[in-house]
Amino acid sequence: MNYKVAVISGDGIGPEIVREARKVLDAVAKKYGHSFQYTDVLMGGASIDVHGIPLTDEAIAACKSADAVLMGSIGGNTTTSPWYKLPPEKRPEAGLLKLRKSLNLFANLRPALLYNELKGACPLKDEVIGSGFDMMIMRELTGGLYFGERKTVEENGVRKAYDSLTYDENEIRRIAKRGFDIAMKRKKKVTSVDKANVLDSSRLWRKVVEEVAKDYPEVTLEHMLVDNCAMQLVKDPAQFDVILTENMFGDILSDEASMITGSIGMLASASLNDTKFGLYEPSGGSAPDIAGQNIANPIATILSAAMMLRFSFDLDKEADAIEKAVQQVLTEGYRTGDIMSEGCKKVNTNEMGDLIAERV
Ligand code: NAD
Repeated sequence: MNYKVAVISGDGIGPEIVREARKVLDAVAKKYGHSFQYTDVLMGGASIDVHGIPLTDEAIAACKSADAVLMGSIGGNTTTSPWYKLPPEKRPEAGLLKLRKSLNLFANLRPALLYNELKGACPLKDEVIGSGFDMMIMRELTGGLYFGERKTVEENGVRKAYDSLTYDENEIRRIAKRGFDIAMKRKKKVTSVDKANVLDSSRLWRKVVEEVAKDYPEVTLEHMLVDNCAMQLVKDPAQFDVILTENMFGDILSDEASMITGSIGMLASASLNDTKFGLYEPSGGSAPDIAGQNIANPIATILSAAMMLRFSFDLDKEADAIEKAVQQVLTEGYRTGDIMSEGCKKVNTNEMGDLIAERV
């Protein structure tokens, strides 16, 4: 099959890590008889330098006409880069927010997986880690508290601020369906996280999730209060498969989950809409401190490309091949600087990409 991929290399380490992900995709194409047709799209600082704005209408159109978007990262040093002297709506990050909105990307997926080989980087005790964990945090991205009405007023000389948290049933249903679909491709368990003992929006969330669950009899559904979930993540992370939750809870829990894996350079992510379309990018930023040195870890971007194959193209076998290749390279002891430990073989960005591509 032929797949059209819009590629946003972006800024900082972006071009270096995306180059390696493309190398691995090309190895997949060769082995499995596919072709990936790439279109380079400018966004962030790279677009500001050429067009004066972080995202043009042409760039959005190019992404819309692709089957999926593969992205590196955008932005620069927020203290020293001239991009941050611009008004907020013209800065690099404004491009990403606009793109997410234009593509209606309402579901954010962040896997948190602990590789046995990288156990040393996990801040949890060995008895808690056990044989490791592999979960997927599914966070609603376009509703809830961050998008609700807000205002600050002064009443009788006292300042008062309001933020509102609203969800309608359609917003909940579409993300819940996505969550159950993903669980069907995994261990078939969904933990829906809410605060239903206090919040009306959470009670509606729970009801709608239960309605959706009826269409997925093979999936086990459990509900968990968000405060308990925050504890369980560090007490027994292996219990989770898919964590399904609203925007703010997901924001906080996904960062907690990524911390317990120990390395930002290993964490993939995806943002999906209600079609097969998605935007795939590493969880980390553009790492301006190490940009251009060929030392960044490309694995998060390579694993994001694997997610693209699995979720946008339904190429599960090919996605498995990439994930296994990453696992093999780690087992063989190859490490980039950020995950280096004693006795391992240190490699640069380019070499890590080669090693993974060779093992696909
Ligand atoms: P960062 O994630 O870029 O860097 C934090 C630390 O992690 C740095 O020490 C960096 O060297 C390291 N790191 C990150 N990715 C790595 C990798 N692949 N390999 C090895 N080390 C890696 O966060 P920051 O410094 O807070 O932000 C830098 C810029 O990135 C800012 O402009 C920020 O706005 C932007 N940013 C962009 C995105 C995105 O594109 N989605 C996300 C987060 C931050």
